[in-house]
Amino acid sequence: MRNRQIVLSEIQNAVAHERKSQLRVLHLLREIECDGHYLEMGYPSLFEFATQSLGYSAGAAHRRIQSMRLLKTLPEMASKIEEGSLSLCVAAKTQSFFKSEDKKRKSEGAAKLSLPTKQEIAHSMVGASMRECEKKLVEISPATALPAEKTRELSTGKTLIQFSAAQELMEKLEKLKEMLAHQNPDGSYEGLIEVLADMALKKVGSEKSAQKTAKNNADTASVSTVEKERSRYIPVEIKRSVFARDGGCCTYEDKKTAKRCGSRFALEYDHIKPFAWGGETSEANLTLRCRSHNVYTAKKQGLIRS
Ligand SMILES: [Zn+2]
Repeated sequence: MRNRQIVLSEIQNAVAHERKSQLRVLHLLREIECDGHYLEMGYPSLFEFATQSLGYSAGAAHRRIQSMRLLKTLPEMASKIEEGSLSLCVAAKTQSFFKSEDKKRKSEGAAKLSLPTKQEIAHSMVGASMRECEKKLVEISPATALPAEKTRELSTGKTLIQFSAAQELMEKLEKLKEMLAHQNPDGSYEGLIEVLADMALKKVGSEKSAQKTAKNNADTASVSTVEKERSRYIPVEIKRSVFARDGGCCTYEDKKTAKRCGSRFALEYDHIKPFAWGGETSEANLTLRCRSHNVYTAKKQGLIRS
């Protein structure tokens, strides 16, 4: 058995080293984000790059990206992370709070949190545990700091859904529970939401199909009038074939590694030869790109300013 004092000093050194590396990771993530390297490598977001390429878990990637963004606004907090008095959990939570609070204020037409306020809040988190941090944030702005809406897949094939419901919503749900008791005899929220989802799908489904018929009729009419003109308008049948050909996902590929983005989120139809340069709106000249890669290629082509 080794001497306890030696082991203790070794682990203290290793932890200090770990924190230094952690901070280095945050700085490098910032560089990768600023220079758009993750886009070039075929990832639709920095989060996907951190999870898929660096192998971080979703939580670990989120903590690092949020902490990196906190340091962007408040670089002085770097030394607190390095000395261990500000954990990544607390830093990330504080940054998420700033973002949500600014968003809420913007929607209310109010001024964003000022830099001195952010500094004051962040400094008050030094040495705080996660529980203390959450408590402080709820005191500052209960509407923003209450637990965020989230879903988590459980091993049973079920999903845990968490959100905080306002009193009005709870009253509506309780009322619906009573009204639909014959379809949901055990009175569970899961049962109630399933009954409501079935009802909504039936209703929205029939409305959508009516709208689709009307739109198809309108499309056929407008295509015939613009047929000969060069247009950005993409007829439905071309959209369908491009979507099928590209497998319903972003086709951006990193030229060096052939890594394909493959995102199925926020897809757009992108002109391979830009429309502004005379590119046609044809199946051969269109491709599916996620929003991030559509913007990224447009910037590379100098079509929009970075
Ligand atoms: Zn993409």
